Amino acid sequence: MALKNYNVAELRRLDVEHHLAAQQDHGMMRDIGGARIITRADGCYIRDAEGNAILDAMAGLWCVQVGYGRKELASAAYEQMLELPYYNTFFKTASPPTIELASKISGLLGGNLSHVFFNSSGSEAIDTIIRMARFYWQAKGQPERHVIIARENGYHGSTIAGASLGGMRAMHAQGGPWVPGIEHIRQPYLFNDGFGEDPRAFGEAAADALEQKILEVGPERVAAFIGEPVQGAGGVIIPPETYWPRVEAICRKYGILLVSDDVICGFGRLGQWFGFQHFGIKPDLVSMAKGMSSGYLPISAVGVADHIVEVLRSVGDDFVHGYTYSGHPTAAAVALKNIEIMENEDLVRRTREDTGPYLARRMAALAEHPLVGEARSLGLIGAVEIVSKKGTNQRFGGSEGPAGRIVRDICITNGLMVRAVRDSLVMSPPLTISHGEIDDIVDIIAKSLDEAAPALA
Ligand code: PLP
Repeated sequence: MALKNYNVAELRRLDVEHHLAAQQDHGMMRDIGGARIITRADGCYIRDAEGNAILDAMAGLWCVQVGYGRKELASAAYEQMLELPYYNTFFKTASPPTIELASKISGLLGGNLSHVFFNSSGSEAIDTIIRMARFYWQAKGQPERHVIIARENGYHGSTIAGASLGGMRAMHAQGGPWVPGIEHIRQPYLFNDGFGEDPRAFGEAAADALEQKILEVGPERVAAFIGEPVQGAGGVIIPPETYWPRVEAICRKYGILLVSDDVICGFGRLGQWFGFQHFGIKPDLVSMAKGMSSGYLPISAVGVADHIVEVLRSVGDDFVHGYTYSGHPTAAAVALKNIEIMENEDLVRRTREDTGPYLARRMAALAEHPLVGEARSLGLIGAVEIVSKKGTNQRFGGSEGPAGRIVRDICITNGLMVRAVRDSLVMSPPLTISHGEIDDIVDIIAKSLDEAAPALA
């Protein structure tokens, strides 16, 4: 299809003059003369205004599960907009797609997670969780149980509550004070913190940090523990298999709510509908967003366990929480259609049994590269650790900044969108990706590492 005739120079000028992009060094954005203008996308490729096709190994921002250019999703939005574009859920009201989506998601969640609360973004879902968990304990007559334990280098969004709950050092260095009543424990990052150790023992020790923190805070003050099944933004940190079952057992021992932040891991990313299902645990609250609508429209949700719903229902008063766009009919219609596509194309099973294992095999080959310390993946999420000395976890730490950024920029020039997290590259391609496209991801990363070698040395 022909590209529209964009005036790229003019758009970039306006971008510098009027637009502040998310999570950016704004001085740098000005100095480079504005953003790369992404004009269209199809399948697993994004296209920029200069006519470059870039294989999108990030699926946007971990979200475009069904790939780009899905007319069915556009039609679902169009039809719903004509029927009922918007209505709220504040006035004892709800729309058909909202109710249908709640029912559909509760079925996918399984177990006792039979209710769903809607929001628009992952960060809003996290705010809902903080408020709901604290209100739950208050309603149960234990208002002192308000402390929420999360992890260092975990990511739970960018609102003040999401950033407080997350354990991102760079975020915490800017714009405090933060929401009180939040504690952080170590993360289960084997490559970084337990290099060469037995993964099972490392996983158990990392989980035991939760028990230590609970005892330090006082169990009667702890409301919940939250974690991403696999930390995404922190660098695709896949915990050893001993980790989550032990965390769950500790939560149960002290009667603490277990929260799975499935914003990235949900909707098939790990080869199950939800990330917590891969690790075989039963959370009380689950946040989800991104892949829920493949990012075509903003929508997020919180899955809520029956025992929490019972308490909410017994209060005899409003839970004074909710958003203008909670249960947005058009976003819900798109999410429903997105889930239907995922089911029809068997994308979750395909990720588990076909493309996920294929990516893992190709990552194993990439791990042989002299600059790669580890190449790990689970389902269709993965990371490549760049090291200065093969066989170690030693990083470059060079004057040009983290190695990840240098290699990422070369990857983009070579036609591949990946993300840099410190000295690693991370990826989470659309679940529709083909074996050939997975080959391209791995080949471009290998080539880009070769090309980066002189700059890294
Ligand atoms: N939780 C996790 C695990 C995430 O990865 C993200 C975003 O990347 C969020 C929450 C916040 O989602 P949003 O950016 O939609 O607010």
